[in-house]
Amino acid sequence: MSIPQSQKVLLIDGLSEGYEVIKYEDFATPIIVTDDEVIIKNRYTGVNYIESYFRKGIYPAELPYVLGREAVGTVVAIGKSVRDLKVGDKVSYIAGATFAQFTKVPNSTHVFKLPDTTSTEQLKLYAAGMIQGLTALTFVNEAYDVKKGDYVLLYAAAGGVGLIFNQLLRMRGAHTIAVASTNEKLSLAKENGAEFLINSKEDNILEKVQQITKGNGVDVAFDSVGKDTFETTLSCLKRKGTFVSYGNASGPVPPFPLSRLSPKNIRLLRPQLFGYVAQADEFRHYTEELISLIDSGKLNIKLFKIYQLYDYVQAAKDIESRSTTGKLILEVPQ
Ligand code: NDP
Repeated sequence: MSIPQSQKVLLIDGLSEGYEVIKYEDFATPIIVTDDEVIIKNRYTGVNYIESYFRKGIYPAELPYVLGREAVGTVVAIGKSVRDLKVGDKVSYIAGATFAQFTKVPNSTHVFKLPDTTSTEQLKLYAAGMIQGLTALTFVNEAYDVKKGDYVLLYAAAGGVGLIFNQLLRMRGAHTIAVASTNEKLSLAKENGAEFLINSKEDNILEKVQQITKGNGVDVAFDSVGKDTFETTLSCLKRKGTFVSYGNASGPVPPFPLSRLSPKNIRLLRPQLFGYVAQADEFRHYTEELISLIDSGKLNIKLFKIYQLYDYVQAAKDIESRSTTGKLILEVPQ
């Protein structure tokens, strides 16, 4: 197919706590330069909390910076040495700059080929499930291998990553203690597998965890809130517990003396998804498992809303104001 020279993208042209730096603009369409590259025409792309970190300067971004980390679409161009993909293939992938009509990826490592028969409904779920699903799936295996009977503290339990975590933890037979800011969110966490519920606006998290675990503390905590919950999470862990700190929704955890971990011999990780799927075989292994869980109905991906690409500012306001549950995706103009 012919690829237009100009395309619509969603980018930031400055750093800000506010939304005024987000622009929907015309931008040069990428072209193949080196032999490994692949260009994908995007259909749906997922919204993740990480976009706010780039905008706020928590993570570095070279400006102007096209947002987006995951999408589904169709391959429209490949470099000479690409063997495992062809023009016309439907794909689901993770890469930068996916809030765009066309995205160039450096190679096929993180591009998963889908059957030609993949339906639009499946495409929406895969766009919604890639980053958040792979995060929860790799973390319950590799950040901490969750075992039957483990007590697990899970924050943002009704968010995109959170709802998937709840379901995977239930499959493993863990006792999930879900933390969320409203009772509606907690009901949703329960439907998805949480056993115990803590309302972060009304309850004392540490007291509740001590009651639930009979004073022992939890085996593992998955904490994506960051700064505001670090101390509480440390207190909630049992001796030899594992602290998986994996997000900054309230801001990054400030530096602290390592000796804080000693009284209970706490194991602390600060993982990122990419570190578990960096190699092609790792990416393929987990993506196959994720897609099979979605297709078989064992894993439910809850779509909160589908926004148009140009309407990302509204999506950003919604997710950052804590008013969403499950996943937000953007439909890309064709
Ligand atoms: P969510 O849908 O979970 O939205 C974020 C949620 O964080 C909110 O709904 C809110 O839930 C909670 N939250 C707690 N404190 C705050 C705060 N001060 N401001 C705003 N929200 C707050 O987003 P995602 O599913 O996209 O991501 C969840 C987390 O996982 C993020 O922190 C993200 O950065 C992290 N993540 C990390 C990855 C990694 O590789 N390390 C990969 C993917 C995601 P509530 O109101 O119930 O508290």
